[in-house]
Amino acid sequence: MSVFTAKSFRNHEQVLFRQDPASGLRAIIAIHDTTLGPALGGCRYWSYNNDEAALDDVLRLSRGMTYKSALANLAFGGGKGVILAPENGEKSPALFRAFGQFVNSLGGRYITAEDVGTSPADLEAVHDVTPYVAGVADGGAGDGDPSPATAWGVFHGIKAAVAASLHRDELHGIHVAVQGLGHVGGYLAEHLAEAGAVLTVADLNDSRLAWAKANLGANVVDVNGIYDVEADVFAPSAMGAILNDDTIPRLKVSAIAGSANNQLAEDRHGSELAERGILYAPDYVINAGGIINISHEGEAYDWDEAMAHCARIHGTLREIFQRATREDRPTNEIADQIAEERIAAAATAGERKLRAVAG
Ligand code: NAD
Repeated sequence: MSVFTAKSFRNHEQVLFRQDPASGLRAIIAIHDTTLGPALGGCRYWSYNNDEAALDDVLRLSRGMTYKSALANLAFGGGKGVILAPENGEKSPALFRAFGQFVNSLGGRYITAEDVGTSPADLEAVHDVTPYVAGVADGGAGDGDPSPATAWGVFHGIKAAVAASLHRDELHGIHVAVQGLGHVGGYLAEHLAEAGAVLTVADLNDSRLAWAKANLGANVVDVNGIYDVEADVFAPSAMGAILNDDTIPRLKVSAIAGSANNQLAEDRHGSELAERGILYAPDYVINAGGIINISHEGEAYDWDEAMAHCARIHGTLREIFQRATREDRPTNEIADQIAEERIAAAATAGERKLRAVAG
């Protein structure tokens, strides 16, 4: 298996592999960049087809975390952990404690958190052996569930997208098509309904659809039909890669603003949306509420302050939208560039400080 020439390798600072036969742990931690601070990113537990798929995932996700923190102006770098699910598929506290020792051996260069496949209980086992865990109950920032904060940030991101694309400051009467009513999509749909938005929703889970119909007055369409809904905003809140060659030509919306990670199948789809006049809120900018909430963790944690910080995603997106218009470039490119500029500026400042100390 190649690392330095792997397809998602992008100048990662460190990639570490750990196996622990006693617990069955096989895990990889990738630290992409620590210029802005310690690398923060969740731990994914997944049954990968092969080692290359696990490496690709951790490389791609850790880089995404660097950009997410940079755009949210947080003093964190980007990292990620993946645990390759054992063949018997069984999770155990011993497995997560072994992962915790792996995290601990990095002395705080990498801080882990919950992600796909890991639960608050799993993170508690990690926390038994290392302090470098975010989003656990004693941090004050909730019980490890980042979804309410993420949804609050996305709600304000939708407002920014509506202001930029439709020149409307209120969501009253705005039609939003929500794909996925899970942890984030459920809270988001509630905020939208409260603000007077008209909802059309799709989910694989019938009980979530029944809930949205009964409680939020939502219209329901089938999972494939959500791309054809004539609405103001499409809010993808389920899986990634849903903005692709098949779906983009079907969209009849002014803006796309939702929580899902990796919404663009490829970067070029950002340009395709711009060419069609559809405003795209870059996913890692609009869905940063969870990590923003984590940045407030500690004894002095204050929910209102943390949520006010999440709401500032509105201003970040406004800046991206304005610059995209000024430079006539796709919003995803602008977001990447702002992140890279912030990291480069911090690196230069750091080098200057080092030279001053040395000289
Ligand atoms: P979740 O698993 O709780 O919810 C996903 C929902 O989407 C489920 O209700 C599921 O039934 C539904 N779904 C699955 N496939 C679907 C399809 N084809 N069409 C319609 N619905 C479908 O996940 P979540 O925590 O709500 O996260 C949603 C998205 O947001 C994910 O992409 C996640 O990576 C991203 N995200 C989440 C957070 C967070 O705080 N949880 C933070 C950042 C990004």
